[in-house]
Amino acid sequence: MRLQNKTVLVTGGGSGIGEATSVRLAAEGARVAVTDLVESAAQRVVANISDAGGTAMALVQDVTLESEWEETVATVTDQWGEIDVLVNNAGVARPGNVEEATLADWRFVNSVNSEGVFLGMRACIPKMRKPGGSIINISSIEGIVGDPLLIAYNASKAAVRTMTKSAALHCAEAGHGIRVNSIHPGFIETAMVADGLAAMGDAAAEFHQRIIAAIPVGHLGQAMDIANAALFLASEESSYMTGSELVVDGGYTAH
Ligand code: NAP
Repeated sequence: MRLQNKTVLVTGGGSGIGEATSVRLAAEGARVAVTDLVESAAQRVVANISDAGGTAMALVQDVTLESEWEETVATVTDQWGEIDVLVNNAGVARPGNVEEATLADWRFVNSVNSEGVFLGMRACIPKMRKPGGSIINISSIEGIVGDPLLIAYNASKAAVRTMTKSAALHCAEAGHGIRVNSIHPGFIETAMVADGLAAMGDAAAEFHQRIIAAIPVGHLGQAMDIANAALFLASEESSYMTGSELVVDGGYTAH
Protein backbone atom coordinates (compact mmCIF):
# COMPACT_ATOMS: atom_id res chain seq x y z
CA MET A 1 0.00 0.00 0.00
CA ARG A 2 2.50 2.58 -1.24
CA LEU A 3 -0.20 5.24 -1.84
CA GLN A 4 -2.46 4.75 1.18
CA ASN A 5 -4.85 7.73 1.63
CA LYS A 6 -3.48 9.57 -1.39
CA THR A 7 -5.79 11.35 -3.82
CA VAL A 8 -4.86 10.86 -7.47
CA LEU A 9 -6.25 12.40 -10.67
CA VAL A 10 -5.57 10.57 -13.95
CA THR A 11 -6.63 12.18 -17.25
CA GLY A 12 -7.52 9.99 -20.22
CA GLY A 13 -8.01 7.24 -17.64
CA GLY A 14 -10.64 5.39 -19.67
CA SER A 15 -8.23 3.33 -21.74
CA GLY A 16 -4.67 2.21 -22.35
CA ILE A 17 -1.93 3.68 -20.19
CA GLY A 18 -4.38 5.85 -18.23
CA GLU A 19 -6.52 2.84 -17.38
CA ALA A 20 -3.56 0.74 -16.28
CA THR A 21 -2.21 3.62 -14.19
CA SER A 22 -5.59 4.20 -12.52
CA VAL A 23 -5.88 0.50 -11.66
CA ARG A 24 -2.26 0.18 -10.48
CA LEU A 25 -2.36 3.27 -8.24
CA ALA A 26 -5.74 2.30 -6.78
CA ALA A 27 -4.37 -1.15 -5.94
CA GLU A 28 -1.73 0.64 -3.83
CA GLY A 29 -4.38 2.38 -1.74
CA ALA A 30 -4.97 5.62 -3.68
CA ARG A 31 -8.39 7.18 -4.24
CA VAL A 32 -8.40 7.71 -8.01
CA ALA A 33 -10.38 10.25 -10.01
CA VAL A 34 -10.53 8.72 -13.49
CA THR A 35 -11.31 11.41 -16.04
CA ASP A 36 -11.98 10.91 -19.74
CA LEU A 37 -13.83 12.37 -22.70
CA VAL A 38 -16.15 9.35 -22.70
CA GLU A 39 -18.13 8.79 -19.51
CA SER A 40 -18.73 5.07 -20.09
CA ALA A 41 -14.98 4.45 -20.49
CA ALA A 42 -14.18 6.15 -17.17
CA GLN A 43 -17.09 4.37 -15.49
CA ARG A 44 -15.88 0.97 -16.69
CA VAL A 45 -12.45 1.58 -15.15
CA VAL A 46 -14.00 2.83 -11.91
CA ALA A 47 -16.21 -0.29 -11.74
CA ASN A 48 -13.14 -2.51 -12.13
CA ILE A 49 -11.33 -0.62 -9.36
CA SER A 50 -14.39 -0.83 -7.08
CA ASP A 51 -14.81 -4.56 -7.77
CA ALA A 52 -11.21 -5.05 -6.66
CA GLY A 53 -11.95 -3.22 -3.37
CA GLY A 54 -10.53 0.17 -4.36
CA THR A 55 -11.94 3.70 -4.34
CA ALA A 56 -12.47 5.69 -7.53
CA MET A 57 -14.76 8.21 -9.19
CA ALA A 58 -15.48 8.75 -12.88
CA LEU A 59 -15.53 12.27 -14.30
CA VAL A 60 -16.07 13.53 -17.83
CA GLN A 61 -13.37 16.00 -18.78
CA ASP A 62 -11.89 17.49 -21.93
CA VAL A 63 -8.34 18.46 -20.93
CA THR A 64 -8.22 21.23 -23.53
CA LEU A 65 -10.89 23.25 -21.73
CA GLU A 66 -9.81 25.48 -18.85
CA SER A 67 -13.36 25.58 -17.45
CA GLU A 68 -13.52 21.78 -17.27
CA TRP A 69 -10.21 21.70 -15.39
CA GLU A 70 -11.69 24.07 -12.81
CA GLU A 71 -14.83 21.93 -12.46
CA THR A 72 -12.87 18.67 -12.27
CA VAL A 73 -10.45 19.90 -9.62
CA ALA A 74 -13.33 21.40 -7.58
CA THR A 75 -15.27 18.12 -7.68
CA VAL A 76 -12.27 16.05 -6.60
CA THR A 77 -11.15 18.38 -3.81
CA ASP A 78 -14.71 18.89 -2.51
CA GLN A 79 -15.07 15.12 -2.08
CA TRP A 80 -11.57 14.01 -1.16
CA GLY A 81 -9.57 17.10 -0.14
CA GLU A 82 -6.20 18.09 -1.55
CA ILE A 83 -4.77 16.30 -4.58
CA ASP A 84 -1.56 14.35 -3.97
CA VAL A 85 -0.82 13.08 -7.47
CA LEU A 86 -1.74 14.38 -10.93
CA VAL A 87 -1.11 12.14 -13.94
CA ASN A 88 -1.42 14.17 -17.15
CA ASN A 89 -1.94 11.21 -19.45
CA ALA A 90 -4.62 12.15 -22.01
CA GLY A 91 -3.13 12.29 -25.47
CA VAL A 92 -3.81 11.99 -29.18
CA ALA A 93 -1.75 11.31 -32.29
CA ARG A 94 -2.26 12.34 -35.92
CA PRO A 95 0.20 11.16 -38.55
CA GLY A 96 1.77 13.62 -40.95
CA ASN A 97 5.18 14.89 -42.03
CA VAL A 98 6.22 18.55 -42.04
CA GLU A 99 5.01 19.00 -45.64
CA GLU A 100 1.71 17.15 -45.37
CA ALA A 101 0.41 17.82 -41.85
CA THR A 102 -2.27 20.51 -41.76
CA LEU A 103 -2.41 23.41 -39.34
CA ALA A 104 -5.66 21.88 -38.02
CA ASP A 105 -3.83 18.60 -37.23
CA TRP A 106 -1.03 20.54 -35.56
CA ARG A 107 -3.44 22.56 -33.41
CA PHE A 108 -5.53 19.53 -32.47
CA VAL A 109 -2.55 17.44 -31.34
CA ASN A 110 -0.85 20.30 -29.53
CA SER A 111 -4.04 21.45 -27.83
CA VAL A 112 -4.56 18.05 -26.20
CA ASN A 113 -0.97 16.91 -25.62
CA SER A 114 0.71 20.22 -24.81
CA GLU A 115 -1.95 22.73 -23.72
CA GLY A 116 -3.82 20.03 -21.80
CA VAL A 117 -0.76 19.30 -19.69
CA PHE A 118 -0.10 23.01 -19.07
CA LEU A 119 -3.73 23.60 -18.05
CA GLY A 120 -3.65 20.53 -15.79
CA MET A 121 -0.57 21.63 -13.90
CA ARG A 122 -1.85 25.17 -13.58
CA ALA A 123 -5.24 24.07 -12.26
CA CYS A 124 -3.91 21.47 -9.84
CA ILE A 125 -0.79 23.02 -8.29
CA PRO A 126 -2.79 25.42 -6.05
CA LYS A 127 -4.92 22.47 -4.89
CA MET A 128 -2.11 19.99 -4.29
CA ARG A 129 -0.77 18.81 -0.95
CA LYS A 130 2.32 20.76 0.06
CA PRO A 131 4.83 19.31 0.59
CA GLY A 132 4.45 15.89 -0.95
CA GLY A 133 2.62 16.40 -4.22
CA SER A 134 3.74 14.65 -7.39
CA ILE A 135 2.90 15.58 -10.98
CA ILE A 136 3.57 12.97 -13.66
CA ASN A 137 3.39 14.13 -17.26
CA ILE A 138 3.16 11.41 -19.90
CA SER A 139 5.42 12.51 -22.73
CA SER A 140 6.90 9.97 -25.17
CA ILE A 141 10.14 8.88 -26.75
CA GLU A 142 8.74 11.08 -29.55
CA GLY A 143 9.51 14.03 -27.29
CA ILE A 144 13.19 13.05 -27.38
CA VAL A 145 13.83 11.77 -30.90
CA GLY A 146 12.22 12.81 -34.18
CA ASP A 147 9.94 10.78 -36.44
CA PRO A 148 9.40 12.00 -40.02
CA LEU A 149 5.71 11.04 -39.87
CA LEU A 150 4.88 12.67 -36.54
CA ILE A 151 5.73 16.37 -36.78
CA ALA A 152 2.85 17.59 -34.60
CA TYR A 153 3.14 14.75 -32.10
CA ASN A 154 6.93 15.23 -31.84
CA ALA A 155 6.46 18.93 -31.09
CA SER A 156 3.71 18.33 -28.53
CA LYS A 157 5.66 15.70 -26.61
CA ALA A 158 8.88 17.74 -26.65
CA ALA A 159 6.84 20.58 -25.16
CA VAL A 160 5.72 18.27 -22.36
CA ARG A 161 9.33 17.28 -21.71
CA THR A 162 10.59 20.82 -21.13
CA MET A 163 7.45 22.30 -19.56
CA THR A 164 7.88 19.54 -16.97
CA LYS A 165 11.32 20.91 -16.12
CA SER A 166 10.05 24.50 -16.02
CA ALA A 167 7.25 23.55 -13.63
CA ALA A 168 9.63 21.44 -11.52
CA LEU A 169 12.00 24.40 -11.11
CA HIS A 170 9.13 26.75 -10.29
CA CYS A 171 7.66 24.42 -7.66
CA ALA A 172 11.08 23.94 -6.06
CA GLU A 173 11.86 27.67 -6.03
CA ALA A 174 8.41 28.48 -4.65
CA GLY A 175 8.95 25.95 -1.87
CA HIS A 176 5.80 24.05 -2.79
CA GLY A 177 7.36 20.65 -2.23
CA ILE A 178 5.65 19.41 -5.39
CA ARG A 179 7.75 17.22 -7.67
CA VAL A 180 7.20 17.28 -11.44
CA ASN A 181 8.57 14.56 -13.71
CA SER A 182 7.89 13.17 -17.17
CA ILE A 183 7.58 9.59 -18.41
CA HIS A 184 8.67 8.73 -21.95
CA PRO A 185 7.02 5.52 -23.11
CA GLY A 186 8.26 3.73 -26.19
CA PHE A 187 5.86 1.69 -28.34
CA ILE A 188 3.14 0.39 -26.01
CA GLU A 189 0.32 -1.94 -27.07
CA THR A 190 -2.72 0.32 -26.68
CA ALA A 191 -5.51 1.62 -28.88
CA MET A 192 -3.27 4.50 -29.99
CA VAL A 193 -0.74 2.15 -31.58
CA ALA A 194 -3.42 -0.25 -32.87
CA ASP A 195 -5.29 2.65 -34.52
CA GLY A 196 -2.06 3.94 -36.03
CA LEU A 197 -1.27 0.54 -37.51
CA ALA A 198 -4.83 0.09 -38.78
CA ALA A 199 -4.61 3.43 -40.57
CA MET A 200 -1.55 2.15 -42.47
CA GLY A 201 -3.49 -0.62 -44.18
CA ASP A 202 -1.25 -3.03 -46.09
CA ALA A 203 1.92 -1.33 -44.86
CA ALA A 204 1.11 -2.10 -41.21
CA ALA A 205 2.65 -5.57 -40.97
CA GLU A 206 5.98 -4.43 -42.42
CA PHE A 207 6.01 -1.32 -40.16
CA HIS A 208 5.21 -3.47 -37.11
CA GLN A 209 8.13 -5.76 -37.90
CA ARG A 210 10.41 -2.75 -38.38
CA ILE A 211 9.45 -1.35 -34.97
CA ILE A 212 10.06 -4.65 -33.24
CA ALA A 213 13.44 -5.00 -34.95
CA ALA A 214 14.39 -1.55 -33.58
CA ILE A 215 13.43 -2.39 -29.98
CA PRO A 216 16.43 -4.02 -28.28
CA VAL A 217 14.29 -6.18 -25.95
CA GLY A 218 12.42 -7.46 -29.03
CA HIS A 219 8.80 -6.63 -28.23
CA LEU A 220 6.36 -3.78 -27.63
CA GLY A 221 5.62 -2.70 -24.07
CA GLN A 222 2.41 -3.13 -22.10
CA ALA A 223 0.38 -0.35 -20.49
CA MET A 224 1.26 -1.81 -17.09
CA ASP A 225 4.96 -1.17 -17.77
CA ILE A 226 4.16 2.55 -17.81
CA ALA A 227 1.76 2.27 -14.87
CA ASN A 228 4.58 0.78 -12.79
CA ALA A 229 6.82 3.74 -13.66
CA ALA A 230 3.99 6.12 -12.72
CA LEU A 231 3.60 4.33 -9.39
CA PHE A 232 7.29 4.88 -8.66
CA LEU A 233 7.05 8.61 -9.47
CA ALA A 234 3.83 8.92 -7.44
CA SER A 235 5.33 7.28 -4.37
CA GLU A 236 7.82 8.52 -1.82
CA GLU A 237 10.39 6.16 -3.33
CA SER A 238 11.14 8.88 -5.91
CA SER A 239 11.21 11.73 -3.38
CA TYR A 240 14.58 13.04 -4.62
CA MET A 241 13.41 13.20 -8.26
CA THR A 242 12.05 16.33 -9.87
CA GLY A 243 12.44 17.72 -13.39
CA SER A 244 13.59 14.32 -14.56
CA GLU A 245 12.58 12.21 -17.54
CA LEU A 246 11.96 8.51 -17.06
CA VAL A 247 12.34 6.59 -20.33
CA VAL A 248 10.45 3.28 -20.52
CA ASP A 249 11.05 2.04 -24.06
CA GLY A 250 12.67 -1.40 -24.11
CA GLY A 251 15.95 0.30 -25.06
CA TYR A 252 14.63 1.96 -28.27
CA THR A 253 16.35 5.30 -27.65
CA ALA A 254 19.56 3.73 -26.33
CA HIS A 255 20.92 3.43 -29.88
P1 NAP B 1 -5.26 5.68 -25.71
O1 NAP B 1 -5.59 4.27 -25.33
O2 NAP B 1 -5.80 6.23 -26.98
O3 NAP B 1 -5.64 6.61 -24.48
C1 NAP B 1 -5.70 8.01 -24.57
C2 NAP B 1 -6.85 8.48 -23.73
O4 NAP B 1 -6.88 9.91 -23.73
C3 NAP B 1 -8.20 7.99 -24.27
O5 NAP B 1 -9.00 7.50 -23.21
C4 NAP B 1 -8.79 9.25 -24.88
O6 NAP B 1 -10.19 9.27 -24.89
C5 NAP B 1 -8.23 10.30 -23.94
N1 NAP B 1 -8.32 11.63 -24.53
C6 NAP B 1 -8.05 12.02 -25.79
N2 NAP B 1 -8.28 13.33 -25.94
C7 NAP B 1 -8.71 13.79 -24.73
C8 NAP B 1 -9.12 15.06 -24.25
N3 NAP B 1 -9.15 16.15 -25.03
N4 NAP B 1 -9.52 15.16 -22.96
C9 NAP B 1 -9.51 14.09 -22.16
N5 NAP B 1 -9.15 12.85 -22.55
C10 NAP B 1 -8.75 12.71 -23.84
O7 NAP B 1 -3.68 5.85 -25.84
P2 NAP B 1 -2.48 5.49 -24.84
O8 NAP B 1 -1.47 4.81 -25.66
O9 NAP B 1 -2.97 4.87 -23.59
O10 NAP B 1 -1.93 6.97 -24.56
C11 NAP B 1 -1.84 7.53 -23.26
C12 NAP B 1 -0.72 8.56 -23.25
O11 NAP B 1 0.51 7.90 -23.50
C13 NAP B 1 -0.84 9.63 -24.35
O12 NAP B 1 -0.43 10.88 -23.85
C14 NAP B 1 0.12 9.15 -25.40
O13 NAP B 1 0.57 10.18 -26.23
C15 NAP B 1 1.21 8.55 -24.53
N6 NAP B 1 2.08 7.61 -25.20
C16 NAP B 1 1.60 6.45 -25.73
C17 NAP B 1 2.48 5.59 -26.37
C18 NAP B 1 2.05 4.28 -26.97
O14 NAP B 1 2.85 3.64 -27.64
N7 NAP B 1 0.82 3.83 -26.77
C19 NAP B 1 3.85 5.90 -26.45
C20 NAP B 1 4.28 7.08 -25.89
C21 NAP B 1 3.40 7.94 -25.26
P3 NAP B 1 -10.97 8.72 -26.19
O15 NAP B 1 -10.56 7.30 -26.33
O16 NAP B 1 -12.38 8.90 -25.84
O17 NAP B 1 -10.54 9.57 -27.32
